[in-house]
Amino acid sequence: MQISMNVSSIPASKTLEVNALAQELKKKGVDVVNLTAGEPDFPTPSPIVDAAIEALKMGFTKYTDSSGIPELREMIAKHVSKKFKVPCTANQVVVSNGGKQAIFNALASVISQNDEVIIIDPCWVSYEPMVLLLGAKAVHVKTQFEKEFIPNPEEIEKSISPATKVIIVNSPNNPTGTVYDEKTLYEIYEIAKKYDLLIISDEVYEPLVYDTDHISLFSISKGDRTVLVNAFSKSHSMTGWRIGYLVAPIEIARAAAKIQGHLTSNINSITQYAALKAFEVDTTYMKDRFRKRRDLVCSMLSELKLNYLRPKGAFYVLIDVREFEQDDVQFCMKLLNDQHVALVPGSAFNAQGFVRLSFATSEDLLKKGIDRIGKFIRR
Ligand code: PLP
Repeated sequence: MQISMNVSSIPASKTLEVNALAQELKKKGVDVVNLTAGEPDFPTPSPIVDAAIEALKMGFTKYTDSSGIPELREMIAKHVSKKFKVPCTANQVVVSNGGKQAIFNALASVISQNDEVIIIDPCWVSYEPMVLLLGAKAVHVKTQFEKEFIPNPEEIEKSISPATKVIIVNSPNNPTGTVYDEKTLYEIYEIAKKYDLLIISDEVYEPLVYDTDHISLFSISKGDRTVLVNAFSKSHSMTGWRIGYLVAPIEIARAAAKIQGHLTSNINSITQYAALKAFEVDTTYMKDRFRKRRDLVCSMLSELKLNYLRPKGAFYVLIDVREFEQDDVQFCMKLLNDQHVALVPGSAFNAQGFVRLSFATSEDLLKKGIDRIGKFIRR
């Protein structure tokens, strides 16, 4: 049977080779320091876990409204209205299986075959495959290390064609840790207005901003032509629970609800009930810990005289390895073979010549891993 053209057009993952070697080494009993984690290493806060247990005991185990239980959608609308000072209502909210499904729902709501979606590089790994699955085209806008990977709005404007429908914006950014400034966000919104485009603002790392305040594109645009995507995954260490949401103009929220209703129905009922509790849990301690680790990692990388971007948000550092090896996959393979440290090759994110180090792991492992990186580059 022929595999669908849309599916076949998705390129193979750039991390396969490195992951396979890391697993092989681990199987052999090698002490691999894995600095690739895409999730917080904290347990989910216990009040959230207790709420899930309570939901199970109460028999809260049946289908729910496919867009999410009304109490949760109301809570999200209230939270977003208050935090971003943009009035919104529960019928603009669709609760999904993670931020990932929320992004796909938003794209699928507005994209038709052969439309174009603007993606700012370096970018999270799943944007382009989602666009390709919809039979559309991803148009990449480059950014520069020297400019902290902040996009130049003129470059965005130049990449617009009559087929362009959407710009995806991700701040705080995975993999760069960049946090966009107000002026850049405002200019992106102005471009979207000028060309009648939708913005999908992926803000799943929103609570993890270390030096400045997070500025949401949703508040810049007052919710106009903007789909806000957020999740409990990174903010409340709930990656496995699979819960995220979008807040969108009403007609897009309706379309997203229709798509989700036919694909997955509601997300797990227990997770939804537990997420209600998440609004009462203060997770500042996670952010404080991540900030400490960010500082530790940056001072160690500086001592090694490595070229890297000091992240202002999220929990990743992008390191420039071009002076050692042009091919970042080869750099990661050699580092893993030689010193048993796993990093993610930048080409997975369209950041050729860079590697991504995650500090979502203990200080001890970070120290051990970076010491080994030091040995590797001094060879
Ligand atoms: N957006 C970005 C930038 C991410 O890094 C991730 C996960 O790593 C997601 C979205 C998806 O998050 P979730 O696990 O909530 O689906």
